[in-house]
Amino acid sequence: MIARAKKYIDAIISFRKPDGWICPCKDEERKTYDTWAVQLISKTLTVYYECSKDKQIPDVIYRVLKNYYEMLKVGEITLFDWGKARWFECFIAINFTYNRCGEEWLKDLAKILKEQGLNYNESVSLWERPLNRWRFDTHIVNMGMMLKSEAVSYGILNEEYTDNAEKLHEILKNYNGTPVGLFTGDECLSGLSSIQGTELCAVAEQMYSYEILYACTGDKKWAERLEMLAFNTLPATISDDMWTHQYDQMSNQVACVKFPGKSLFRTNGSEAHLFGLESNFGCCTANFNQAWPKFALSAFMHSDDTVINAVPVPSELKADGKYIKLETNYPFENSFKYTVETEKAFTFKIRIPSFAENLTVNGKAANAEELSFEIAAGEKLETQIR
Ligand SMILES: [Zn+2]
Repeated sequence: MIARAKKYIDAIISFRKPDGWICPCKDEERKTYDTWAVQLISKTLTVYYECSKDKQIPDVIYRVLKNYYEMLKVGEITLFDWGKARWFECFIAINFTYNRCGEEWLKDLAKILKEQGLNYNESVSLWERPLNRWRFDTHIVNMGMMLKSEAVSYGILNEEYTDNAEKLHEILKNYNGTPVGLFTGDECLSGLSSIQGTELCAVAEQMYSYEILYACTGDKKWAERLEMLAFNTLPATISDDMWTHQYDQMSNQVACVKFPGKSLFRTNGSEAHLFGLESNFGCCTANFNQAWPKFALSAFMHSDDTVINAVPVPSELKADGKYIKLETNYPFENSFKYTVETEKAFTFKIRIPSFAENLTVNGKAANAEELSFEIAAGEKLETQIR
């Protein structure tokens, strides 16, 4: 997958302009170009680097962001449309670059993006009933994405973390929630009826937001919500081989046929829930493929010399002299076998979900929010958890 990605990454970065501009438009069109593309490609390059360690990438990201900053700072470009609605996506790359170089202009860039970007707190009254029209601030994919905005931005902006995502999540859930943890939005927020659909891109983006929220806060409710989506809504809407998917899924879908007459969806046509390679609109075909790999990348997370198993899926971690293997059929069974070997001492933690009952570790009853093991260098740990 890394080799395949490299082909496209190399092509994209080969078209950069000498000043760092990376968007596919003519120089004279920069002012009217929606720089959403900068935010997404810098994020993509960051995730690609974390997987590939391709040496050219950090410098490319640095130059792309620096050019973005210089043009925004003097008003040569401004945020509008998608770039305004998704300003926080750029913070994946800003945080990555700031952690490497610590240069102050990155904080300024962060500030400009937040100032020019949409403040979703000002739109919440629009979420209480379906509007039956298309808007950026009720768009379902934006809803999934924006939940992580405070988590990715508060650090570099030197702000206090307020768990704003919980407040926004609560309003979305109350007025547009479904039993599987999605919000309805066959394109924009659609209310509480179970025949309303949800666009697949929103599943992929909401999962990513929950991964980031858990990584940034350690608050386990986000990991539990991530599991809910990953084990219900994602597999429900794509085939096993991933060659066909639905644009819109519905909680209460009894047939997969074109609606006779007028579409039941509020902001989509009468075929938006049919399966196909590129059904309804191409965005989901391009976007849904990231959901499983990013979920797999989130199975283990680390902080200093602590490694935590955040999501209990069958997985292996080989990193920094550590080897961890998790054998499980979860969520179909509640049994977990961990094998851990290490060349240097570290703390290994396992997130225990709040809904777990009768927890046992190697057959002995345990009562814990989180399991923690101190593993010495050269030690091998085998543990069975139910
Ligand atoms: Zn889509």
